[in-house]
Amino acid sequence: MSEPCFFKESDLVAVLTSQPLDQMLDYKAPLGGCWQGAFVEVPLGPRKILGVVWGAGKGDFDYSKVRSVIRVLDVAPMHPSMQEFLRRVSDYTLSPMPMMLRLATRAPSLVDPPSMRHVYCKGPTEVGRMTEPRRRVLTALRNSRDFKFTLKELAEVADTTSSVIKGLVKMGAVSELTAPRDSPFPLLDPLLPGKLLSEEQANAVSKLRGDEKGYNTTLLKGVTGSGKTEVYLEVVGDCLKKGSQALVLLPEIALTAEFLARVEDRFGAKPAEWHSGVTMTERRRTWKMVGEGHAQMVVGARSALFLPYQNLGLIVVDEEHDSSYKQEDGVLYNARDMAVLRASLVGGRVVLASATPSLESWANVEAGKYKKIELNSRFGHAVMPHLAAIDMREESLPGDRWISNSLKQMVDARIQAGEQSLLFINRRGYAPITLCRSCGNQVGCNNCDARMVEHRFSNRLMCHQCGESKPVPSICPSCHVEGRLAVVGPGVERLAEEATELFPDATIAVLSSDLFGSARALKAQIAALAAGQVDVIIGTQLVAKGHNFPLLTLVGVIDADLGLQGSDLRAAERTFQLMRQVAGRAGRADKPGVAVLQTHQPEHPVIKAILGGDEEAFWRTEASERKAAGVPPYGRLVGIVLSSPNAQEALALGQTMTRNILPLSKIGAEVFGPAPAPIARIRGRHRVRILVKSKKSVPIQAAISEWVAQFKLPKSLRLSIDIDPQSFY
Ligand code: ADP
Ligand code: ZN
Repeated sequence: MSEPCFFKESDLVAVLTSQPLDQMLDYKAPLGGCWQGAFVEVPLGPRKILGVVWGAGKGDFDYSKVRSVIRVLDVAPMHPSMQEFLRRVSDYTLSPMPMMLRLATRAPSLVDPPSMRHVYCKGPTEVGRMTEPRRRVLTALRNSRDFKFTLKELAEVADTTSSVIKGLVKMGAVSELTAPRDSPFPLLDPLLPGKLLSEEQANAVSKLRGDEKGYNTTLLKGVTGSGKTEVYLEVVGDCLKKGSQALVLLPEIALTAEFLARVEDRFGAKPAEWHSGVTMTERRRTWKMVGEGHAQMVVGARSALFLPYQNLGLIVVDEEHDSSYKQEDGVLYNARDMAVLRASLVGGRVVLASATPSLESWANVEAGKYKKIELNSRFGHAVMPHLAAIDMREESLPGDRWISNSLKQMVDARIQAGEQSLLFINRRGYAPITLCRSCGNQVGCNNCDARMVEHRFSNRLMCHQCGESKPVPSICPSCHVEGRLAVVGPGVERLAEEATELFPDATIAVLSSDLFGSARALKAQIAALAAGQVDVIIGTQLVAKGHNFPLLTLVGVIDADLGLQGSDLRAAERTFQLMRQVAGRAGRADKPGVAVLQTHQPEHPVIKAILGGDEEAFWRTEASERKAAGVPPYGRLVGIVLSSPNAQEALALGQTMTRNILPLSKIGAEVFGPAPAPIARIRGRHRVRILVKSKKSVPIQAAISEWVAQFKLPKSLRLSIDIDPQSFY
């Protein structure tokens, strides 16, 4: 990567902005000049907009008419490796550069001057009359070392009111200072001692350290509870010691609280946080401090990859198999894959951690591209749960019951013993279908080809595609007959109702992402569950992801067959991973656990593989099937979705496109479709899918660009290109 160059005043520079233009614009460098990578404000028509000095200008425009950069912003310039990263992600995902810049500047008011706020520290004067609250304030200030509290923080720490503090300021015992709101993050101390590692963990750490310099990727595969987190935190510590920045990606915001606490335990302070639950002010602070190197470690969701690191040494992708790493709108990227790209550009390293790695990573290990380190035993006395199936064909349950007698007895035994049970169903809401018994109509969404899902806690029908909701009707919207609507099938809420009837004396809690107004409420609930305040937890896949519930000894999967339906290429893989993840929740501490799967097809190969626990065999079978079919990870897929308010228009363009596939056939790619998408209408737009399949080794992006460029799209039509699609709806 070349060093950034400097442009003198009036030199021509090319500026990338987030405006949807198909090229960069030339400007004159401002008074005092500017560096490549500088964030600047430039005039565009009557407006002032944010941009980045990308390189030298093209100069294909009358110089005298070129306008000047207004000013260079007071933020760290974009690192050349970040420029390269954005360019490569743009090429890979076929997303325009302005969209990439938007992804890289997702923090508010970057153009504004730093905003200031009051902070408090010990003042010069002694306190006249000492009271308990005043003493607490002074103690808090004395103990805070260099950290400066805001009024609110100080009042909280000292457990007093702001007026007490204001009083102390008046008498001079506390000083009020002005400081920028975007302040550095507290220092993490990598020299603090970590936990004493088991022999297996210590071996993993030393293998992970290795002796190689520069870029490499390691798959850290370890059963749930084996201490993967402890192991990779050691490598984070190494990275911090070298003065490099570390990034840990987590698939679920709800996991961050627990993780932040572990980092604080390990390194003495909390890292920076980056996800949709973080306030705007904190986002801006994190963005700026990462750029200035005043955030050593970031914990976040996939978009944390696009923060302006100056010196990134390590990226950990925890639960690397998780499908939420795929961004499903805007720039369609997979954070796991882009983490590998990001690290390779800066000579950093990547750790992919999972109990159930993706077939992609498994194949990369096989191919020798990634190293693999395994942790096979659980830490301490914990052992893997015993797995068993309940054959639902023999349970003869009534149609509106889902907890079999066998499972009920097991839960009862746990309640007696003061232990926790988890009943798992991967479906939000009360019931997936509301059916009219008079005309047979299933209540659907007005905007989408999707059924409305009843949510009884909020007493509404909701569309899980577009988020539309309406009150639960009493009259059928189709035949207008009253009182004949009935619900079919279970969701978590309905399961909770059944559990309340079956276990009247137990405390029951429901954990589903839509039931919590805020990330904070969800964190609180998870903490309460971990503390054992609940006997029976009813949960969706939210509970499958990495939480520690020490008292949980039984997991009951209500419908293990659910994920096996449908034609998704990863259905078997996902079911296998999810079932193992969920089962892994049982028996984490010193109590052994049991996991049971309710199934109607105990002889299904995937169910047998889960029960038998022969992972290698499962992966080998799965791999050879995918190899034979030429699909990922052994071939490439590109998903194209055409959508329009007019169904005919979308289909017609799809037909034109699939008739003119020369650029694709030149590289031997196959084209399937057009066909109405499985969800043929979302938010009022009709959707048509085309699927392109090719060998892995061909330049598919270039061919797709050339192919798509041949067609003129009507204004109302949207075309989205998904390289390596994860979902096919
Ligand atoms: P994983 O990430 O593989 O699921 P964790 O790192 O979360 O495993 O470890 C599981 C539990 O065991 C955690 O509560 C963790 O604190 C504890 N643990 C793991 N290794 C050690 C160790 N060496 N010393 C003490 N506790 C440990
Ligand atoms: Zn809808």
